[in-house]
Amino acid sequence: MSGIVRADAIVAGAGFWGCTVARRLAEAGRKVLVLEARGAVGGNVRCEADPETGIEVHLYGSHIFHTHDMAVWNFIRRFTEFNGYQHKVLANYKGKIYYLPLGLALINKFFGVELKPGEVADFMKDERHSSAIFDAFFRGYTSKQWGKAPEEIDPSIIKRVPVRDNYDVNYFKDYLQGIPADGYNAVFDRMLDHPNIEVKVNAPFALQDMADAPVYYSGPIDALFGYKFGHLPWRTLRFETETIGVKDFQGTSVVNYTEAEIPYTRIHEFKHYHPELAGVMSAPKTIVMREYSAAWKPGDEPYYPVDCDESRALLGKYREEAAKIPNLVVGGRLGGYKYFDMDQSIAAALAVEI
Ligand SMILES: Cc1cc2nc3c(=O)[nH]c(=O)nc-3n(C[C@H](O)[C@H](O)[C@H](O)COP(=O)(O)OP(=O)(O)OC[C@H]3O[C@@H](n4cnc5c(N)ncnc54)[C@H](O)[C@@H]3O)c2cc1C
Repeated sequence: MSGIVRADAIVAGAGFWGCTVARRLAEAGRKVLVLEARGAVGGNVRCEADPETGIEVHLYGSHIFHTHDMAVWNFIRRFTEFNGYQHKVLANYKGKIYYLPLGLALINKFFGVELKPGEVADFMKDERHSSAIFDAFFRGYTSKQWGKAPEEIDPSIIKRVPVRDNYDVNYFKDYLQGIPADGYNAVFDRMLDHPNIEVKVNAPFALQDMADAPVYYSGPIDALFGYKFGHLPWRTLRFETETIGVKDFQGTSVVNYTEAEIPYTRIHEFKHYHPELAGVMSAPKTIVMREYSAAWKPGDEPYYPVDCDESRALLGKYREEAAKIPNLVVGGRLGGYKYFDMDQSIAAALAVEI
């Protein structure tokens, strides 16, 4: 990796965190070498356009951009327009479809009542109602997501689930929301398109590659130290993608399957993320992806960090190791061992001292 010695800074990992840091460094006049372990940039937001239908397939699960952070919004808007898509999620329970999140639309349909705003809190205080909602929409889904038996899921979590006292079925509260108009890949290409940035793919960074230039690393923190204290635990996902010969399979982008008996957690149907693309929407085929959650083992893709006493202790040890190395900044969802939405990953990268 001869480029390393010539660069003023190394950015390892080209997801949103790494690309944001790289762009900031480049604009500050630094020569930046971006090393990405995979064969393409974009991290877990990477997409692939289906050559036949033009449908943008999100390779690592559905990604909807949403934020209320104006600094993040102003930054990302330099690299893309958004299409105005507003995310809604449906739940399929025993073959019936309900609007999530928990609010008037779901409650009134599920119980066959006609509650009005102001009446939900009292209704949900009744243990029979909250238990029925928990059993139908949370117990099975959570057990699949975290690999536990349904009986092990603590019913008291329902008390912490926010309940909307209205018919707002917008999944996210953030009003700044959408899908990049020309797709996610174009956003990363534009972020990295700067005369001071050189990108190498299939180029994993390892600690022994470190020279004098500062390194901004967003790969897994335990991998950086050869897992010397052990592996941080993750949940992984398995995706089954299928092209189906119908124009519209489920009428929306995401349906959660909340029963424990159905092995997948959700079905994504990607064409619905671009309702503005008439050609894509009217294509006689559609692409769906079933998402299965599974226990992680070394070699699997890490998706969700598992927050527990052991993982916190292990993370602490790796952080101490990282702090001993001058000129090393570790960040992003893998480096931080933390679930980040895309906007949080960008916000964290905007806060990095460069
Ligand atoms: C299933 C799922 C759905 C999600 N949906 C949403 C959503 O709808 N909206 C939202 O805002 N967020 C969503 N997110 C979160 C989103 O994926 C993250 O916020 C985002 O990917 C974080 O970017 P990052 O740069 O921190 O990490 P990543 O995207 O993981 O990028 C890290 C990069 O580092 C590379 N790398 C690893 N090791 C090395 C190494 N040694 N050398 C060089 N490169 C290396 C990896 O290959 C990867 O490209 C979702 C996450 C999951 C798991």
